[in-house]
Amino acid sequence: MLGEQKFQGIGMTSDRTRQRLIRQLSEAGIDEPHVLAAMSEIPRHLFVEEGIAHRAYENNALPIGLGQTISQPYIVAQMTQILWRRSKHQKLLEIGTGSGYQCAILSRLWDEVYTIERIRELQLNARERLLSLGLRNIHYKAADGYLGWKEHAPFDAIIVTAAAPVIPERLLAQLSDEGVMIIPIGAAEQIQQLILIEKVQGEIKQTEIEPVRFVPMLPGIQT
Ligand code: SAH
Repeated sequence: MLGEQKFQGIGMTSDRTRQRLIRQLSEAGIDEPHVLAAMSEIPRHLFVEEGIAHRAYENNALPIGLGQTISQPYIVAQMTQILWRRSKHQKLLEIGTGSGYQCAILSRLWDEVYTIERIRELQLNARERLLSLGLRNIHYKAADGYLGWKEHAPFDAIIVTAAAPVIPERLLAQLSDEGVMIIPIGAAEQIQQLILIEKVQGEIKQTEIEPVRFVPMLPGIQT
């Protein structure tokens, strides 16, 4: 767990704007205290490029380089809240480490977080950032997230932060009994649907949450 000391000197100037964002999130229906607490602890401005750090606490997606984006805070909070309320809080798998921001939030709420990213450079940067924040319960893999992480399966929760055309079978297979997955489904460059998948006594239940827009989940690893 993070000591308060960890955050002294980093981003204290943005504390007020961060609290404003937290108020906006709760007005938008994020009311899980653990999720709001995690969102208010993690300094989002450290996860975006320096030139746009002043925009980090706006409720918008922002570029993180290499054609990828850090998700809108509301969506990060919403996906986290849905999983947090329905899954056990032990093992979680994230597909799409990106900047590491969503991962940082998750690592405050689950015991062990496994995160996979297909662009090695992004993941190396994210790892450095997350370690410098003192977050040590995260396991990293530069690989194709479509394959999941079999050695550590099953997972209580799986979160996919890129849009897949269909639900990836391999990920479904790595979900524990009573496990929960959240994933945007749909074509790239179009509005996609955020889908909640619950395994209940061997049956798969799907629920549409809301329309979203994510970068595409691409097969293979980028070298
Ligand atoms: N969770 C990230 C969001 C990053 S955007 C954050 O908080 O910043 C989505 C990320 O998914 C991109 O970095 C992209 O490279 C990655 N991605 C896309 N397809 C993937 C795949 N098959 N396996 C792993 N990562 C993938």
